[in-house]
Amino acid sequence: MSNVLDAFLQENLQELKDQGLYNEVDPVEGPNGAKIQIRGKELINLSSNNYLGLATNEELKRIAKEAIDKYGVGAGAVRSINGTLDLHVKLEEKLAEFKGTDAAISYQSGFNCNMAAISAVMDKNDAILSDQLNHASIIDGCRLSKAKIIAFKHSDMDDLREKAKAAQESGLYNKVMIITDGVFSMDGDIAKLPEIVQIAKEFDLITYVDDAHGSGVTGKGKGTVKHFGLEKDIDFQMGTLSKAVGVVGGYVAGKQPLIDWLKVRSRPFLFSTAVPPGDVAAITAALQMIMDSTELHDKLWDNGDYLKAGLDKLGFNIGASETPITPCIIGDEKLTQQFSKRLFEEGVYAKAIVFPTVQKGAGRVRNMPTADHTKEMLDEAIVIYEKVGKELGVIK
Ligand code: PMP
Repeated sequence: MSNVLDAFLQENLQELKDQGLYNEVDPVEGPNGAKIQIRGKELINLSSNNYLGLATNEELKRIAKEAIDKYGVGAGAVRSINGTLDLHVKLEEKLAEFKGTDAAISYQSGFNCNMAAISAVMDKNDAILSDQLNHASIIDGCRLSKAKIIAFKHSDMDDLREKAKAAQESGLYNKVMIITDGVFSMDGDIAKLPEIVQIAKEFDLITYVDDAHGSGVTGKGKGTVKHFGLEKDIDFQMGTLSKAVGVVGGYVAGKQPLIDWLKVRSRPFLFSTAVPPGDVAAITAALQMIMDSTELHDKLWDNGDYLKAGLDKLGFNIGASETPITPCIIGDEKLTQQFSKRLFEEGVYAKAIVFPTVQKGAGRVRNMPTADHTKEMLDEAIVIYEKVGKELGVIK
């Protein structure tokens, strides 16, 4: 290894460890369900994005296997050459139906979808108004586009309006976009989309909503744009297929010309191999399940409300979540790590989330109840939270 690289890594890794910011990865030894096994220990899992339990759904497993038997394990090429299987076409039709748009395009991940879609449309002559708490993949997609990034205060519509007005009146930019998460994953709050749409109309701005944590969860499962009835007003309805949908991938749903443009100009569609057939078949079936019944959605919300009430009653700071996402905000990074470690020892998996995923001093243990949890599991988790919370002085 080069001496310079060696010195850089040693110094920086040590600094992260000293600050309690070094993240150890925990391999899961089986399905990522309501219970998981890690290092031989069975734990109540409160850290997965498998909101509806679809990642381990038996019917979806069967459908994926059938597709593998018919098509094989790989798509064989990038989408724009011959990696587009008829399965991808069906998936994109289903996504458009799901999101109430003309058309949709799917990608290999939510992360590369944001990188792809933002940079395919925005360039150095443009500006992007971005909520300060937007996801890392949005930030990277904005950076890649080379557009001027103008951050606005989290969900602060006065700040957004002021910055939108200034951007348009400056005459410096060809296009201006507003970009926001639909549901903010670290706090569980919902973006103020009706106000955002109003500001976009007032100043002729492009609108982009990343609904990674809303699809399957808000809007009776159809997402945050649907929740507000704004399907005709949002230009980019972006989402992931890896969270409530349970598999992997990302997508943009929107008007036909937008999707046509992304198919010729977004680089992962042109230069990265397509999602494998087993996954595509399972995703399409999962979307149909979400559209056909709200049973899993209702269970998810019921479990979310139950866990929130239990932790709130104990005196934990659970923030102002409007969704089943239930943060336990602790603050200090080292205490957060210690809290999570003690939960693990007692039988709960709730990962510590610290900088850079959240701001410094805003460390938290984030709980993600799912449709698969039983009330008994949640009760057991609440008892453990009480024990560890009192032991570490997080609650009285
Ligand atoms: N956007 C948001 C808001 C997310 O939370 C995530 C997942 N962490 C992504 C995009 C990336 O999605 P994926 O995991 O499917 O790449």
